[in-house]
Amino acid sequence: MSDKVVKFGGSSLASAEQFRKVAAIINGDPKRKYVVPSAPGKRFSDDIKVTDMLYKCCELAGSGVDFTDDFQLIKDRYNGIISELGIDMSLDEEFDSITKELKARPSKDFAASRGEYLNGKVLAKYLGFNFVDAADVIVFDTKGSLLLDETVKAVRERLSSLDNAVIPGFYGKTTEGYIKTFSRGGSDVTGSIIANAVRAEIYENWTDVSGFLVADPRIVENPDVIEVITYRELRELAYMGASVLHEDAIFPVRSAGIPINIRNTNRPEDAGTMIVSDDYNFSRESIKHTITGIAGKKGFSTINIEKAMMNNETGFGMKVLQVLFNNGLSFEHMPSGIDTMSITVSSDKLDPVRDKVIAELRKAVAPDHIEIEDGIALLAVVGRRMKNTRGTVARIFASMAHARVNVKMIDQGSSELNVIIGVSENDLPEAIRRIYDMFINSEK
Ligand code: ADP
Ligand code: ASP
Ligand code: MG
Repeated sequence: MSDKVVKFGGSSLASAEQFRKVAAIINGDPKRKYVVPSAPGKRFSDDIKVTDMLYKCCELAGSGVDFTDDFQLIKDRYNGIISELGIDMSLDEEFDSITKELKARPSKDFAASRGEYLNGKVLAKYLGFNFVDAADVIVFDTKGSLLLDETVKAVRERLSSLDNAVIPGFYGKTTEGYIKTFSRGGSDVTGSIIANAVRAEIYENWTDVSGFLVADPRIVENPDVIEVITYRELRELAYMGASVLHEDAIFPVRSAGIPINIRNTNRPEDAGTMIVSDDYNFSRESIKHTITGIAGKKGFSTINIEKAMMNNETGFGMKVLQVLFNNGLSFEHMPSGIDTMSITVSSDKLDPVRDKVIAELRKAVAPDHIEIEDGIALLAVVGRRMKNTRGTVARIFASMAHARVNVKMIDQGSSELNVIIGVSENDLPEAIRRIYDMFINSEK
């Protein structure tokens, strides 16, 4: 019998009521042996995630400000869950040692990791499962990159003698012994690593929506669920802001051929979304639309360079890229014409070196005109079937024209898996809704 790894996100574990649903799901299938919890998330829309509360405590501690009141709110969250569930345990010793550590060495990663650590302790006790500290099995190098092989080995060794385990998500330990977290949403990555290590038959990722949706439900009302999606499509969408699943959660399971199933803790009867290998044999019935999904991300700038006949100038692109490289900037897209080139970069990364980059570009390629445009959003229309369907780009343009959205940039990846368009940030929600109408509503 092979096992299932189940990861539960923050909202799935935000309250005692949610813990009960989670326990029912786990107890409903004996294969669900390895459980990866997040820290308690939001119970209602303007609630605060425990992770964010911990970051705040750490910030206060770092500036030497008393954080007792803020930390009390965190204690209240856990104590509320423990008492409501009637679990016989106390986290007081843990709370004390975390407070002491924050006062002595306020490390952001350590602080944030305690959210999943404590939740893991509570969940393990509630389920009657073994608790395995992620710090003992998830290994990072001194620079903070995951050491996958070492980690898989450590997880296997540790889990081989256990029938079940709760392993907190989001963090591990460096080879020097410091607690280190993944980036935000990183419990998804932990789940994926554990699934790889135990060669799980499936990695179930339980959240608060009934699967990967065609578009962000905060933008499109009641979007369709994607029944089956390939890893590659999902990665494109995740990278472009469809934040259901951390983009780094794909590699560990993809290489092992383990499917991911996104499920809804609040509606366990729903089938959710299956994420499958790129060569998966799709049945005809499962193919409903030309595109698979739409996602968008704000916070980009374009560097627009104009120079007459730049296309004839050997090494032009190379000189431009050299300047970006010298300033540690990576670029997202770089469409170019005969006299123009526009390079899309993340505004956050550009900001500290903005003037320097312009000055160096002027020197390197002597442009006729150069300017930076901020407030750009990138929108990705993703789908493995697009390359065999004529007129997709025309339809995207038509929907933008109807919405009077000005398309600032367009780039079709060489894989023909996606079309990326640049629009003004203010236009992003409307652009997504129009594309949804064009490809999903009108194809029904
Ligand atoms: P968890 O805490 O379970 O890890 P997340 O908040 O990280 O959950 O991810 C689930 C949320 O992602 C949903 O509640 C939804 O608001 C958001 N989301 C954004 N884009 C999509 C999409 N395309 N499909 C589903 N959910 C999406
Ligand atoms: N609790 C962490 C966060 O809020 C990790 C996660 O939820 O996956 O980012
Ligand atoms: Mg998440």
